[in-house]
Amino acid sequence: MRYRDSPEHTAECLRLALPLMAKQDSAMHPISFSIWYEHVAGMNAPLSSELERAMQTELALDEEATYALYRKYIAGLDEQSAQQVADGFRRVLSDLSDSANQAGKQASRFGSVLEEWSEGLLDGKSEKSLAEEAAGIIGDTRQMQDAVAVLNARLDSSKDEIERLQSEIVRAREEALSDGLTGLANRRGFDQSLADRMREATEQASELSLLLLDIDHFKNVNDKYGHLFGDKVIRSIAQVLKDNVKGRDTAARYGGEEFAVILPDTPPMGARAVAEKIRSTVANCRIQRVGNNETVDTISISIGVAHFTGGESPTDLIGRADSALYTSKSHGRNRVTVAARG
Ligand code: GH3
Ligand code: MG
Ligand code: MG
Repeated sequence: MRYRDSPEHTAECLRLALPLMAKQDSAMHPISFSIWYEHVAGMNAPLSSELERAMQTELALDEEATYALYRKYIAGLDEQSAQQVADGFRRVLSDLSDSANQAGKQASRFGSVLEEWSEGLLDGKSEKSLAEEAAGIIGDTRQMQDAVAVLNARLDSSKDEIERLQSEIVRAREEALSDGLTGLANRRGFDQSLADRMREATEQASELSLLLLDIDHFKNVNDKYGHLFGDKVIRSIAQVLKDNVKGRDTAARYGGEEFAVILPDTPPMGARAVAEKIRSTVANCRIQRVGNNETVDTISISIGVAHFTGGESPTDLIGRADSALYTSKSHGRNRVTVAARG
């Protein structure tokens, strides 16, 4: 999950993000909010370095630049969810600004009354008229207190509303990055995780391996047992992947019947062992057909493993894993091949 911060931390990030957002030309909406939120929360280093460069030029971000940054560094919200969150966010902000305006007007009225009164004191007004004015001030003070109480109540409910909207963003993002059939990361989630893990591996000079997996003769499985059974096979293999990854590993549905596993901190031999475990588990599975005890042919998968070499692009790394997968296919399938060094 992308946003795991506690409510206290979230509120603190909101406090830091709002003044930065206010300095930009673009309106305050969830798109601009998520950019500045991720920046102040320190959770998106490439975005932060671009924002810091922009802030040095003192050029405010307009709508177009804001959306471009969002698409480049965050993306993933579908249009409809973004619109829903945007409307909610706009409502909260306009409500808040109305209340703040009201409280501000009351405060300035109160200030002028106090000023007049102190002038009256200096001018040596009569006790009676000063007492009348004091009564007026007490009335104004009450009104002032009421306005501040309203503002506080609105602030409290806005905080709840913003938290609700934020969890809405989290939910929509998660949906946009995961695959509906298997619950694994989808291609978009995979691309994002691979870019993140490759950046970390480069910065920390750590190991990183990638597995690409493809179901063998899957067309025959569909033809022989039907598409529904084919989908069940895809879900079962996804389950095997989930059971065999841990911590910061990412298991993804890369395409229709193709999967990928990203293994940070894993040298080639460790990655081969994980791949071999997945391959043999799948080969030993017996997937049942619903309402039918007929034995199903063995389902197997072929796997290509590539170990990240510094300086290589995601496309290069995926390309090497894919060539290794092709070697597994051409050498008879149901096997693991580790790619030559990049
Ligand atoms: P190979 O061993 O060379 O990979 O053979 P294959 O038959 O698996 O390869 P091919 O790429 O020719 O066929 C893949 C098939 O996977 C074709 C497509 O109908 C099926 N497929 C792709 N996505 C899905 C899906 O979501 N559900 C089901 N049931 N089948 C799918
Ligand atoms: Mg395929
Ligand atoms: Mg296949």
